[in-house]
Amino acid sequence: RQPLIIAKDLRKHFPVRSGLFGRQTATVHAVDGVSFEVMKGETLGIVGESGCGKSTTARLLIGLIDIDEGQIIFDGDILGHDISLKELRHGVQMVFQDSYASLNPRLTIEDSIAFGPMVQKLGDPRGRARDLMTKVGLDPARFAHRYPHELSGGQRQRVNIARALAMSPRLVILDEAVSALDKSVEAQVLNLLNDLREEFGLTYVFISHDLNVVRFISDRILVMYLGEVVEVGPAETIYARQAHPYTASLFAAMPSMDPDARTEEPPLAGDPPNPINPPSGCRFHTRCKFAEDVCAATRPALTPLGGEAGHYAACHMEIAGSGHSHAAVAHPP
Ligand code: SF4
Ligand code: MG
Repeated sequence: RQPLIIAKDLRKHFPVRSGLFGRQTATVHAVDGVSFEVMKGETLGIVGESGCGKSTTARLLIGLIDIDEGQIIFDGDILGHDISLKELRHGVQMVFQDSYASLNPRLTIEDSIAFGPMVQKLGDPRGRARDLMTKVGLDPARFAHRYPHELSGGQRQRVNIARALAMSPRLVILDEAVSALDKSVEAQVLNLLNDLREEFGLTYVFISHDLNVVRFISDRILVMYLGEVVEVGPAETIYARQAHPYTASLFAAMPSMDPDARTEEPPLAGDPPNPINPPSGCRFHTRCKFAEDVCAATRPALTPLGGEAGHYAACHMEIAGSGHSHAAVAHPP
């Protein structure tokens, strides 16, 4: 597979007020040296706790915010050089968690979907809107003239997906797009997304805190912690064998379908450290039970692992170590 997106060493910093009465300004390194690829036709899942930089990464990809440092290459064109943000935005669409806030309450469903294509002067916006309504499972005869408040959350999210597809995007970023839906509706929307990806040859970046959902929909998974990538690899590989202790604790904290499969691993303790002053070396060292002196001193690089191709982790112990199940590594209490 060819890459659709190559993100190289992306950095995004935000100034924030801090200190007593917010008198000082500080810098949050929301995305701090993040590199990855998104292959054509794949779904890349991005996971991590809130504040890890996954939504900021998504906003950089769609050009909603400017890159401070680094580079995004979109299908061979360098963003901002060969290709403008305006051009890019047609090619990248985003679906957010809040299905209601994304829709104009005064537009009918048909007008909502047809609006983007009209502005962009794409052919037959209304025909396009009605076709897409059918594709996302909303009968145009019943839904075309309804308003957002007359729809359920699941139906509104189908409208948002149709609106995104109406722009003929190549990449669709789904940021917690099913997180507000009931479980049964969530499964329907996930299946719909899979079908649409096939039919339209789409590429997805799927951001979610829900590891079960990410595993279901993703070909590969990228794990972020405090603005950095700590692990990336094929979804099933990461699901079966997490190489990075942070990924392992995320999965251990996940509710399992199978009670026998539950581990003794305690869920991750505490909140992530303050991103204004992230820990030195490996940013996870303040919460990692495998941490040793080297961890606070040196930032581990993302390194290919011995097993499955395309599996990388940023951890000194993994790199020094075996093939490794953390349980097998002896550590002082
Ligand atoms: Fe833990 Fe050290 Fe690995 Fe970081 S580098 S995850 S602190 S063992
Ligand atoms: Mg978010």
